[in-house]
Amino acid sequence: MEKIPVGILGATGAVGQKFILLLSDHPWFEIRELAASQRSSGKRYQDAVNWIQERPIPEAIREMMVKDCEPNLEGKMVFSGLDSSVAGEVEEAFAQAGYWVFSNAKNHRMDSDVPLVIVELNPEHLNMIPHQQKNRGWEGAIITNANCSATVLALSIGPLHKMFGLETVHVVTLQALSGAGYPGVASLDILGNVIPFISGEEEKIESETQKILGALDNHQFSPAPFTVSAHANRVPVEEGHLECVSVKLKQKAGPEEVTRCWQEFKGSEHELNLPSAPQQPVVVVSEEDRPQPRRDVWKYEGMSALVGRVRPCPLFDIKYVVLGHNTIRGAAGASLLNAELVLKKGMLSGLSAPAG
Ligand code: NAP
Repeated sequence: MEKIPVGILGATGAVGQKFILLLSDHPWFEIRELAASQRSSGKRYQDAVNWIQERPIPEAIREMMVKDCEPNLEGKMVFSGLDSSVAGEVEEAFAQAGYWVFSNAKNHRMDSDVPLVIVELNPEHLNMIPHQQKNRGWEGAIITNANCSATVLALSIGPLHKMFGLETVHVVTLQALSGAGYPGVASLDILGNVIPFISGEEEKIESETQKILGALDNHQFSPAPFTVSAHANRVPVEEGHLECVSVKLKQKAGPEEVTRCWQEFKGSEHELNLPSAPQQPVVVVSEEDRPQPRRDVWKYEGMSALVGRVRPCPLFDIKYVVLGHNTIRGAAGASLLNAELVLKKGMLSGLSAPAG
């Protein structure tokens, strides 16, 4: 069975490395192209990259030559882990040249014709793509996934919004260092410390969750009508964003009903059986002191949101904590799911998901 050739833009970065790990044994895709900045292009991948993963660089990737981010790569699909200083223009150039770009960068997430997708929550937002292509005169397309903290939050509040309706969401994040890329925050700033500011993060959490859980009607996204207030903090944790959330519901529900809602939640894409989709998008853990980043972040291959400490909230209705893997579910894994969904839905002409 022939696999579909794909490329990775920003292949040397923290997210790019996760793409390499997730795509290396993928049943449908095969990495044929790696691209990054001029600092890296023309070098063998193993010489260009500062590899920060525990697993070694896959054998087939080590000797591959890194190229420039020019839209002349093999295949029709590219995954982007590009720095936001360049992602905007580069991704547009690729889409214009006919590539389908699955992007992690913030640049196009809030564009009025670009879907911001979490496959379990808003797969119907992909219906914007033909309009985007017509609008921009593109044969390709840009599909984005959300900011890492917004993804973790949306996965947990999404099922509640669908079942009970949300009025207000308050979230305090404790975000891992890997969310800042490499080398990220200086060690002297973060060791034994918490930094109560991450530039632009609170705004992204607030607006992106509303776009994801909002409606698409007549080629227009309208934000979900609940209020979100976010506090973002950087903490000395390697991987995994922990978020303390309080929600006010339209239709009142107690901890047991809310827990059942998460346990029974299956995304509408569930029956499509995407290879990277977790069995259970939201897993409720029962121990009173879990989930914890170091102990739990790799559970379910880092693709589920782990919810714990579900209890009544004296200010709103319910409070809980949620943990998600920021560079897997919050970045590369989310893009990969979007690409799998696009293929499975047959949206990319001439390409289809391999059978089996
Ligand atoms: P990173 O480690 O700094 O990697 C950035 C990548 O962009 C590198 O491959 C770099 O290549 C490439 N790049 C930089 N300047 C370039 C240029 N002028 N032309 C072409 N390529 C260039 O960043 P990251 O943490 O992986 O994040 C990547 C993107 O994903 C960002 O937009 C970020 O906001 C987003 N994101 C990150 C996370 C996370 O948890 N880390 C989560 C969600 C979304 P060189 O190595 O050659 O410089």
